[in-house]
Amino acid sequence: MKTIGVLTSGGDSPGMNAAVRAVVRKAIYHNLNVYGIYQGYAGLMAGNFKKLELGSVGDIIHRGGTMLYTARSEEFKTLEGQHSGIEQLNKHGVEGLVVIGGDGSYRGAQKLTEHGFPCIGLPGTIDNDIAGTDYTIGFNTALHTVIDAIDKIRDTATSHERTFIIEVMGRHAGDIALWAGLAGGAETIIIPEIDFKLEDVVGRIKSGQKRGKKHTIIVLAEGVSNGMDFAKLIERETSLETRVSVLGHIQRGGTPTAFDRVLASRLGGRAVELLIEGKGGRAVGMEQNRIVDYSFDEVFSKPHHIDETMYRLSQELSI
Ligand code: ADP
Repeated sequence: MKTIGVLTSGGDSPGMNAAVRAVVRKAIYHNLNVYGIYQGYAGLMAGNFKKLELGSVGDIIHRGGTMLYTARSEEFKTLEGQHSGIEQLNKHGVEGLVVIGGDGSYRGAQKLTEHGFPCIGLPGTIDNDIAGTDYTIGFNTALHTVIDAIDKIRDTATSHERTFIIEVMGRHAGDIALWAGLAGGAETIIIPEIDFKLEDVVGRIKSGQKRGKKHTIIVLAEGVSNGMDFAKLIERETSLETRVSVLGHIQRGGTPTAFDRVLASRLGGRAVELLIEGKGGRAVGMEQNRIVDYSFDEVFSKPHHIDETMYRLSQELSI
């Protein structure tokens, strides 16, 4: 292996830059050439390649987003799209590729590997919804952003004695809502993985009121309901004025935390080692503080699980 490529794909996440930096520096350390491929798989098919040097990844470890840009591409889901990607890789003499992204990006990387082109996946998504790793790159930073918002909203909620619904990202995975809700002391956390009963939510609000509680904070994952619709339900059942905050894309950006930078660096370094060892089709992750790798099939076959004991604890702590 003399030359490798790296791209970021799908939704961006803080720490992707630190991962790109690790891949580039580790590769150069081992005397490999590295191409940055810009705009994800769309850029791969279009031949948007640029040779990266040590200095190309200077001053990015602390930046959110991705210096390689990212994109979504329907064309890449077709066989022709994948073949034209491989043509470009061959044309540039690239022999292995590191793909940083979420589940969809992994599927693309698996397809390339099946066509004989070795790819390594790194979990870059704020959703923490990839199996084979305890944490994805960007999750920790997103959590800090959400907690910061909850703390601020709590000040207003207390002062005005109001019920607040904070809608956070998570279409299928409730990790952001669960962790941020627990860390932010939310009274109720609503996530896609666990059914809720409206009467329970209402009961908690009412019993809090009886105790003289000044406010209620509900953290709602976007995959369960739209915040405004949920607020209407709560207002109908409690007659309490309810406010909604939809955090949206602020959760994706920002300076990556130290945790995400270290995770990204460790995973990026391992990705290059795997390619040097001649291994493709592997997804790198961290489990119990050890760097591990699994085949894409293994990752796809393990469903993402929410930590139910943590969910129950959050309920016990917010009676
Ligand atoms: P994420 O990687 O964040 O989950 P997407 O699901 O949008 O984001 O996937 C990113 C890109 O990966 C898609 O735009 C597409 O180009 C590629 N991709 C997704 N699914 C497949 C698939 N089944 N086969 C090939 N490529 C895919």
